[in-house]
Amino acid sequence: MQFIRFRRVSLSTLLAATVLYSVGCMVSPSRIDKARLLSHVETLSSDGFAGRRTATEGGAMAVSYVENAMQEMGLTSCSEALRVPFEFSSRRSEELVSGINLVGYIAGTGTSPKTIVVTAHFDHLGERGGEVFNGADDNASGTGAMLELARYFIANPPLHSMIFAGLDAEEMGLQGARALVASPCVSGRDVALNINMDMISRSPKGELYAVGTFPYPFLKPALEALPERDGVTLLFGHETPGTGSDDWTNSSDHGPFNQAGIPFIYFGVEDHPGYHNPTDDFAEITPEFYYETTELILDALLAYDATLDTLRSE
Ligand SMILES: [Zn+2]
Repeated sequence: MQFIRFRRVSLSTLLAATVLYSVGCMVSPSRIDKARLLSHVETLSSDGFAGRRTATEGGAMAVSYVENAMQEMGLTSCSEALRVPFEFSSRRSEELVSGINLVGYIAGTGTSPKTIVVTAHFDHLGERGGEVFNGADDNASGTGAMLELARYFIANPPLHSMIFAGLDAEEMGLQGARALVASPCVSGRDVALNINMDMISRSPKGELYAVGTFPYPFLKPALEALPERDGVTLLFGHETPGTGSDDWTNSSDHGPFNQAGIPFIYFGVEDHPGYHNPTDDFAEITPEFYYETTELILDALLAYDATLDTLRSE
């Protein structure tokens, strides 16, 4: 009897300690400046940027904005300059179109040559029928997160080298990502992982998808072990082969990485009423959800940075 009573007491004490410990873990310190994160989206999706279509005045403004932000935080370039121009033939007219990627680099503190590439496209659809497609969620949100994640890793250098890229011409066929993957910055390095963000700020259900663990299952345990973030449910899915447009395996800039055999995780939300509509405005995003998804992706990057050399064998 006494033994049982003793066990009861210790179990409840243990339970209380566990609850306290869990509460303590949930209040993880803030590492991303929420106001600055949101201001990137507000600015990039304002009417002055005219929808940021590649090779337009608004598109050039977006290039300058991302370049200035990278310069201000002291991000060094991956090759000679942050700006990396490229050309591609338009799918419609077969004319040559000029795009500009912005590619920064943070050297790892360790000895491993393995590198992580963090990507987000900043271009969008521009103006159509007299209406501006501001693309707040698609993809000013990913761009803002890419910039603030770069700022975090400049202040807290990673073990593995990281490339932070703002990509152009995603909306014209993932052209910026194709150019980046073919460039010496990526093809000349041992790139072990691409983390791509495209639409991470708007989900009425508070759901964020991580795509890429079907072709690369060794990337899943780190995501399953991530700390909970308030108001964000991390889901897997949208990557079953043969499901057409519901298969997001090559749906955004992670596609060219995947096609080059580079493992990837794509973070994004399901299509919402603002998707490729003029209503994809800053006023419609969910600021708290966006901040939490960015913190979650930071946790994912920290987890992969810590385990990158042994991931495939785990
Ligand atoms: Zn997009």
